[in-house]
Amino acid sequence: MNIQTTHTTMIVSSEDREIMFNIAHWITNNRKSVKKIRQLAGTEERYMLIIREIDRLELQLTKARYMRTEATLTLVEWLNTLNHFHWRCAYCGKKSFEVMSHITPLPDGGTTLDNCVPGCYTCIRHNRKDNPYNPPGKFLHVYGVREIVGSADNFSHPINM
Ligand SMILES: [Zn+2]
Repeated sequence: MNIQTTHTTMIVSSEDREIMFNIAHWITNNRKSVKKIRQLAGTEERYMLIIREIDRLELQLTKARYMRTEATLTLVEWLNTLNHFHWRCAYCGKKSFEVMSHITPLPDGGTTLDNCVPGCYTCIRHNRKDNPYNPPGKFLHVYGVREIVGSADNFSHPINM
């Protein structure tokens, strides 16, 4: 299986979302166990999907802690954010997302709910710290993620875009 293909053909069904939230909640309350996650995921594809987000989140939280900035984003919050943006890039809204983007780059911003959105490589290049247009006006719509997504699990209250 080539997980890279999910970047261009990212189809996350409502069943996938529900199961991923269940796993995220389970992880919140239990010690993380790969065996249990695989069991809860049901399929290998879904397991790869959730593991990839767990790894992505942990890497960014570790980076933020290392840079001594805020590191509070939870897996449930990140999944809520991904669902809100339909697993697409938050900036262009077109491409499947490829990376976790910090609106205000580390370490000025943290790995937090209101600073992290899904992004594609093309848009990320325009959102670099050394870009004089950062934050560019066209990206303003991604601000206020906390207000949009909410800090609670709002899976049962889907947001209409
Ligand atoms: Zn984009």
